[in-house]
Amino acid sequence: MKNKGLLIVLSGPSGAGKGTICKALLNRQKFWLSVSATTRQPRAGEISGKSYHYITREQFKNKIKNDDFLEYAEVYGNFYGTPKSAAIEKIENGEDVILEIDIQGALKVKENYPEGVFIFILPPSMEELRNRIIGRGSETAESLVTRFKSAYQEVNYVSKYNYAVINDTVEEAVSKIESIISAERCRVDRMKDKILDSKEGLLHEQFYD
Ligand code: ADP
Ligand code: 5GP
Repeated sequence: MKNKGLLIVLSGPSGAGKGTICKALLNRQKFWLSVSATTRQPRAGEISGKSYHYITREQFKNKIKNDDFLEYAEVYGNFYGTPKSAAIEKIENGEDVILEIDIQGALKVKENYPEGVFIFILPPSMEELRNRIIGRGSETAESLVTRFKSAYQEVNYVSKYNYAVINDTVEEAVSKIESIISAERCRVDRMKDKILDSKEGLLHEQFYD
């Protein structure tokens, strides 16, 4: 029998480097990155269907009604949601799935799927966080203030996560996340099917009780 894939949830304040880390991680290993639906407008350079599925508020409400989301949240005045069926299908098929979502969404996923791996990305300092958001050049002055103020509240939620990774350099942060994932794959509870199915019959089922 195939082991289930991991559900890896990366979150943290805006500007902490989630997107950058995800991209670097995907260049090194095979993961399935969930593409969220959002009601926000596309930014320059974003690709529909790859960065997000851009939908109207009406369409978003219908998806909520149809129970199409694993989780959804309102973040900075826009709605964001993780399409449920694709992610579940991949996990059941043994593929590791990454969600890059906000803290409210991550906590909802944790309630319903506690066996997920919850990783909080922290900036090296609040000053550096501010510099990075400004440096990204994606926000208006107003949106910058909103995101920066929220960041002060959001870092308090780090204690709800399984792991905290400080994004000092991208290389180090990615390497830490790879180590976390390797260790999670070796957890005895995740290895059960593999061990029981092994040709040598390493263990009998009762040893797992
Ligand atoms: P998030 O997805 O968490 O909002 P981003 O990945 O967009 O954050 O990163 C915010 C900005 O910081 C981007 O301009 C990115 O290039 C930069 N950045 C991310 N990680 C680092 C790092 N380790 N060192 C320096 N700049 C970084
Ligand atoms: P941005 O507008 O910068 O792309 O994203 C804003 C915030 O929404 C980020 O913290 C991002 O991680 C989060 N986000 C993106 N997709 C989802 C999602 O599907 N669900 C939730 N809850 N948050 C999301």
